[in-house]
Amino acid sequence: MKLLGAIEAGGTKFVCGIGHEDGEVLDRVSFPTTTPAETMGHVLDYFAGKQVEALGIGSFGPIDPVIGSPTYGYITTTPKPHWGSFNLVGAVAGHLSVPIGFDTDVNGAALGEYTWGAAKGLDSCLYITVGTGIGAGAVAGGELIHGLSHPEMGHIVVRRHPEDPYEGFCPYHGDCLEGLAAGPAIGKRWGRPAGELPEDHPAWEMEAHYLAHALMNYVLILSPQKIVMGGGVMKQSQLYPLIHRKLQELLAGYVQHSALNAGIGSYVVPPALGDNAGLAGALGLARLALRKSAD
Ligand code: ADP
Ligand code: ZN
Repeated sequence: MKLLGAIEAGGTKFVCGIGHEDGEVLDRVSFPTTTPAETMGHVLDYFAGKQVEALGIGSFGPIDPVIGSPTYGYITTTPKPHWGSFNLVGAVAGHLSVPIGFDTDVNGAALGEYTWGAAKGLDSCLYITVGTGIGAGAVAGGELIHGLSHPEMGHIVVRRHPEDPYEGFCPYHGDCLEGLAAGPAIGKRWGRPAGELPEDHPAWEMEAHYLAHALMNYVLILSPQKIVMGGGVMKQSQLYPLIHRKLQELLAGYVQHSALNAGIGSYVVPPALGDNAGLAGALGLARLALRKSAD
C-alpha cells in the first residue's frame, strides 16, 4: 500500500505523520509551533527519507487553498506573529517533489470523517471544531467546499442569548459565533476556564444555544447529511443532547427529514476518528492529491 505523509499545522503545535491510503496512521510526531524557519526545519527533517508518495497539509488559517491563485499555499492574514503571508506549501514543495494537498484543518477533518469516519458512505458532511477558535469545513457532492477562498463558518452572526451580557472576543467582529462560543469566550464570560466548569453549570445551556444557532444556519444553507462536532469544548459530552434538542426547536419542523427528527442523535455526532481527526484529515488531503495527480 502507498505511503502518504500528513501535516496537521496548528497555531499551537504541528503534528506530522505517515499513513496508508486506507486512513491508518502508522507514525506521528508533534512539536510546538514557533517560527516558520524552525518549525519547517522539524517538518522537513521528519519527512526526509520517509519515501511518501503524496503529502497532505491541513492548516490553521486563514489560508489560500485555491489552486492557480498567486498566493496559493500561503497562510494569509493570521495575527500569529511571523506566520502571516507565509508560503507553507512552497516551503515543503522545494524539498519534497510529490503531489501536495493543502486545505484548512477543518476541511481536512471534514474529508477524513467523510472518507473513513462518521460520514463514510454519504455524499456530504460538515465538520466543526469548537476550541480556541471555531471553524468548520464541509464536503458537498464529494468535493471540499471552496470559492473565493474557503468558508469561514466560525465567524457567522448568531442570535444572542437573552441573558448574555458578554461582548464577545473576536478581534474582527466582537460577538460573532467564535467571539461568543469558542473556548476563551466561555472562560471570559464565567471567569473560569471552560474545562473547569461543572457539567450542570448554566454555561453549557448558553453554549448549546449558540452552537445550535450555528448548526441551524449550516443545515439551512448546506443541508449536510451529517454534522461532526470536535474540538476541546466538545469534550463536554452533555453538550450533544442539549444541542440536539435546541436544534430541533430552532428548525421547528420546517426541514422535514428523519435525520432531524428521531435520527437527531446520530445526525450531530462526535468525530469517529477521535483525536486522530486532524492527522487523518491531512492524510485524506494527501490521498486526494495523489488521485488528482493520476487523473
Ligand atoms: P485548539 O483549538 O487550539 O486546536 P482545542 O480544540 O483543544 O485546541 O481547544 C482548546 C480550547 O478548548 C480552550 O479554550 C479550552 O478552554 C477548551 N477546552 C479544552 N478542554 C476542555 C474541556 N474538557 N471542557 C471544556 N472546554 C475545554
Ligand atoms: Zn469573528
